Amino acid sequence: MSLVCISAGHSPKRTGASYHGFKEHDEAVEWATHLATLLAKKVSVDYVPTGKLSEKVAFINAADCRLAVEIHFNAAVNAAGKNVGKGSETLYYPGSESGKAAALTVQKHLSPIFSPDRGAKEGHYQMNPAKPADYFLRKTNCLALIIEPEFIQWKDSIQVNREKGCEALCAAMLEILGDS
Ligand SMILES: [Zn+2]
Repeated sequence: MSLVCISAGHSPKRTGASYHGFKEHDEAVEWATHLATLLAKKVSVDYVPTGKLSEKVAFINAADCRLAVEIHFNAAVNAAGKNVGKGSETLYYPGSESGKAAALTVQKHLSPIFSPDRGAKEGHYQMNPAKPADYFLRKTNCLALIIEPEFIQWKDSIQVNREKGCEALCAAMLEILGDS
């Protein structure tokens, strides 16, 4: 049993968004492993082995943790094919009051580094409210969040601010665990 599970979005086979060879999964692994190291100084943490989403969720449910977070990087493309968007957002299970409160806590810590603050949002597949909740949010038994610190094309900012971002997320996790 652990208090927190930290997962990197996507997998080595399906790496998620990319921008000129900069891959969402690779950077998410950097963040997730570093965040887990920081948190391990304070609480019990499991870094979720990367792989299929269903396997990650099974690992999290078996760990019987209180909080599970997955790190992603956002991506949006305009009609001309140009990557657009800037800032951080955190997704929670639609309708969950505790999820919303936790997501707002994450944004309070993260958005000063990755602005603008895009807020706490209900997480639906493809961000379409007509579609079901994101699998990760729907299938995990505990409080779960998907954190998107920045859009993938802001590679330099993502890497330069990785340390500060992970420290902010560590502080947010500890605050959430203290509140819940
Ligand atoms: Zn993603």
